[in-house]
Amino acid sequence: NPAKANYHPVEDACWAAGAPVPYLALARTLELIEATSARLKIIDILSNYLRSVIVLTPDDLLPSVYLCLNQLAPAYESLELGVAETYLLKAVGQCTGRTLAQLRGSVAREGDLGRVAQSARTTQRTMFTPPPLSARAVLNALRDIARMTGHASVDKKIKKIQSLYVACRHSEARYLIRSLEGKLRVGLAEQSVLAALGAAAARTPPPGEVLDAARGVSPEQFKAIVDEHALTIKTVYCECPNYELVIPALLQHGVRGLGARCRLQPGIPLKPMLAHPTKQLAHIFDRFEKEEFTCEWKYDGERAQLHVPAQACGAAPDLPRAAIFSRNQENNTTKYPDVLGRLTSLLGPDVTSCVLDCEAVAYDVDTKQILPFQVLSTRKRKAAALADIKVQVCVFVFDLLFLNGEPLVRRPLRERRQLLRQHFRQVPGEWQLATSRDCSALEDVQQFLEEAVRGSCEGLMVKALDGPRAHYDIARRSHNWLKLKKDYLDGLGDTLDVVVVGAYRGRGKRAGVFGGFLLACYEPEHEQFQSLCKIGTGFSDEDLQSLTEQLQKHVIDAPRPYYSFDAQHSPDVWLAAASVWEVRAADLSLSPAHRAAIGRVHPDKGISLRFPRFVRVRDDKTPEQASSAAQIADMYLAQDQVKNTATTNTNMD
Ligand code: ATP
Repeated sequence: NPAKANYHPVEDACWAAGAPVPYLALARTLELIEATSARLKIIDILSNYLRSVIVLTPDDLLPSVYLCLNQLAPAYESLELGVAETYLLKAVGQCTGRTLAQLRGSVAREGDLGRVAQSARTTQRTMFTPPPLSARAVLNALRDIARMTGHASVDKKIKKIQSLYVACRHSEARYLIRSLEGKLRVGLAEQSVLAALGAAAARTPPPGEVLDAARGVSPEQFKAIVDEHALTIKTVYCECPNYELVIPALLQHGVRGLGARCRLQPGIPLKPMLAHPTKQLAHIFDRFEKEEFTCEWKYDGERAQLHVPAQACGAAPDLPRAAIFSRNQENNTTKYPDVLGRLTSLLGPDVTSCVLDCEAVAYDVDTKQILPFQVLSTRKRKAAALADIKVQVCVFVFDLLFLNGEPLVRRPLRERRQLLRQHFRQVPGEWQLATSRDCSALEDVQQFLEEAVRGSCEGLMVKALDGPRAHYDIARRSHNWLKLKKDYLDGLGDTLDVVVVGAYRGRGKRAGVFGGFLLACYEPEHEQFQSLCKIGTGFSDEDLQSLTEQLQKHVIDAPRPYYSFDAQHSPDVWLAAASVWEVRAADLSLSPAHRAAIGRVHPDKGISLRFPRFVRVRDDKTPEQASSAAQIADMYLAQDQVKNTATTNTNMD
């Protein structure tokens, strides 16, 4: 009984078989997870809950997984929650008779609207008790709310939220309100959900399959099977990131049957492979030692994953014939009608379906010159009309992930590139293969880098060519791809992508707009945004004007509980973590005033950026994809002066 005080996700999960899973069972599970910090224990708690669902109401496995991840649909459908705090306060206030001021005061004290909503709901009496919420009904209601758009939708949203809120029992209100805010914040990463799903499936195989444990395997062997299942599910989900395909297949065919049924397919965008920065040419040779590698120009545009499904086999239903997805799996198809209009000139006669990894770059067709990223960013982001398009784009193709029904991600790059050259046609200024050279000497790389820079590129991508290291590592920042930017060689190395969490009012010439900002990095382990530095340079007057306007909608009353900062350095205005900016800095230093990567290189000092400069807004990254605390610590430690000091200290010891 989920209403029991010490609820256990298996022993007490006693809703009737086939009946909708009570939302309270899920909320109780989230409560247990929130109170736990050990990752393995979290996986255990969640897998126990998922097992109960598989045994009693398998149809609710998908809603359960979605609710645990606070996801409403596949990522590429961009169906997202993130109801403004004011509307949530209004909904809670109207149901409980509390004023906005009272609620705001409680939120400032508690630091969490979810908990405030829970205690307000518990102390409130209702005339009649609405029927209990079920997990599937909550998911459907959240989807309805996310789909409501336009000004008139606000009242409708508030009404719908109220109808859910008054039906909440115990901790349901906490998680409902946090879901609506857009973040559950219980410390449950997607990798843990996938591991829990694997463990649950190992313990509750599909009908017709014998439980491994019942076949007389030893506990150690069974544990190995559980780990193997978790790994299989993670791998399958990487290739086919759509729970609506993976979960029904899992229920019907078990983990062992998944690989054959849920494969990479056109229409379902993958999380792309990413590269590690490298600062010195010599590091490339350390990394690849005797292996052969190739260098490609690193174009400065926007990543474009081009999907061409076979019309006849209709792999992904309801998608147009071809689609372009962003680095974040956002559907950018309507941004590039010009590019898709000339698709046939790229495809060789025998191509029936494919997935290509490319960079879309602004291009001057008259001078045949690559144009800077800033020019590309002036293009309309959605529903661009062909006649209005002024900035021309050339697509530089650098990888082939799927061809004619076959995923190629586990083939080495040399082979993928060979197939690319064989089956696709280049059209100057429209479709080109990334310029590449297989280098073997440091001087070759140096010369090729200079050519890339002269060709208006950011630098080079250096990639393994043969063997398993040359596979396409979906969703990974891999050491098998190194990026070498021209500015790395004489500066800090890579730029950083940071989250704006606060702003300072401008003075003097900057009066009336924000004149400075508080930046943070992301620490996934604690789900925290940790302050990194203040920034006030690199902005033009127009930048400050437009950034101030854009940021207004993210102003919040108080810092979020998951912001880590020094109170003495509070900004004038707090902002919800939403915008990601690319910044450059002279170097990184230890700082008592900031919290970035605290505990990673120093027990109680954070890392801060010295002389940060604004480079550009990164619309293609979410706050959770900003530079992580681990990356900041690595960059700090990689600095020559830090390395030298460490060596000196060691010598002195
Ligand atoms: P940044 O774009 O700031 O370098 P990032 O985090 O977006 O960082 P990285 O992995 O660091 O991504 O760099 C790889 C990016 O470079 C890819 O996402 C892609 O958009 C772009 N790119 C340009 N040319 C190539 C190429 N030849 N091979 C791979 N990626 C390329």
